[in-house]
Amino acid sequence: MQNNNLLSRFLGYVGFDTQSKPSAKHSPSSAGQMKLAEALQQELLALGLQDVKVSKHAVVTAYLPANRPELKRTIGLIAHLDTSPQCSGKNVQAEVIENYRGGDIALGVGEEFISPVYYPFLHQLVGQTLIVADGNTLLGADNKAGIAEIMTALEILQKDNLPHCHIRVAFTPDEEIGLGIQYFPLEDFPCDWAYTIDGGAVGELEYENFNAALAKVIIHGRAIHPGFAKGKMVNALTLACAFQQGLPAQEVPELTEGKEGFFHLDYFSGDVERVEMHYLIRDFDAEAFNARKTFLQNWAAEFNHQHKLRKPLELQISDNYRNMYDCVEKVPQAIEVADRAMRKAGITPNHQPIRGGTDGAFLAEKGLACPNIFTGGYNFHSKHELVSLQGMEKAVEVIVNLVQDQEM
Ligand SMILES: [Zn+2]
Repeated sequence: MQNNNLLSRFLGYVGFDTQSKPSAKHSPSSAGQMKLAEALQQELLALGLQDVKVSKHAVVTAYLPANRPELKRTIGLIAHLDTSPQCSGKNVQAEVIENYRGGDIALGVGEEFISPVYYPFLHQLVGQTLIVADGNTLLGADNKAGIAEIMTALEILQKDNLPHCHIRVAFTPDEEIGLGIQYFPLEDFPCDWAYTIDGGAVGELEYENFNAALAKVIIHGRAIHPGFAKGKMVNALTLACAFQQGLPAQEVPELTEGKEGFFHLDYFSGDVERVEMHYLIRDFDAEAFNARKTFLQNWAAEFNHQHKLRKPLELQISDNYRNMYDCVEKVPQAIEVADRAMRKAGITPNHQPIRGGTDGAFLAEKGLACPNIFTGGYNFHSKHELVSLQGMEKAVEVIVNLVQDQEM
């Protein structure tokens, strides 16, 4: 499938600086997201979609009614506008490498490079057209590749008058900081199920993700001049180290993979007087997830008992998101249709658990099954981010196949 507009679209979108700001209280967290949202609104109107809206929170929604009476389903297609706060997305200078010959790819003036030694997946991309940034910024394939793919699929359906079911489209802000989805107008987005187009390598199909919670630990000490400290000082830093030692040392992100869960000490700050520690708790299995939370509570209680702290250690656990599989398993067609759409495009589906969360996880919690489909991109949230044009074309083909699916 040749889509000349796919590449130019993508290159247009990465020109918008839409980096989300982690400290933000309101969405959109950056002005660039609204600018991109408005540009996408114009494009959706030009493609002939209906009910094209941009909310004050920069959520773009649109509707394309089915053009055949027998195609009764409504399928949602979702991608996010923002890019990761972890790496600049300002003044992205995309470079197109045609017919990648293998070996290192120098970025920009060449101080940064992408090597198959570190990224063995590059061997599979030999001969393809790769798009990279210049080493100063991320590329923004996460998730502008997804937006470009959805738009191009819509263009193909419209131009060639291909049969398709009802389609609802949404482009959402602030996915990377987990904020934008709160403003998702679910009541105006009635779908049988939806897909986020926000995955990685060709073939990826994801519908299971972590159950996630955040644990905040506050340890109170007592500061006093070290010269007169005997019997008086309580060093919160020492206590914090002891608390950390009580957690299972093997159950950390750097030693786990697949469906293994973990405790992750993500943030640690303080002094003798007071320490704050933030842990991420993650597990695919709901029971194991609850057991992790109970473990922390028990350890906190025991710790308080052991150390006879005058002011006890405080532990606050807050749930973040849940494994979307609880919802998706009730709508197995969402996976079957995606599988068929991929096979029709000559792709072997690769069912992967997501070691993270997606907007789909939040939507699933509200009852909308929303698996995640590949974009053809790699190394997200990094200066080494890249996307394959052939991978993007495959994603377009899969989207076109999805909305044409007729088998029940
Ligand atoms: Zn993403």
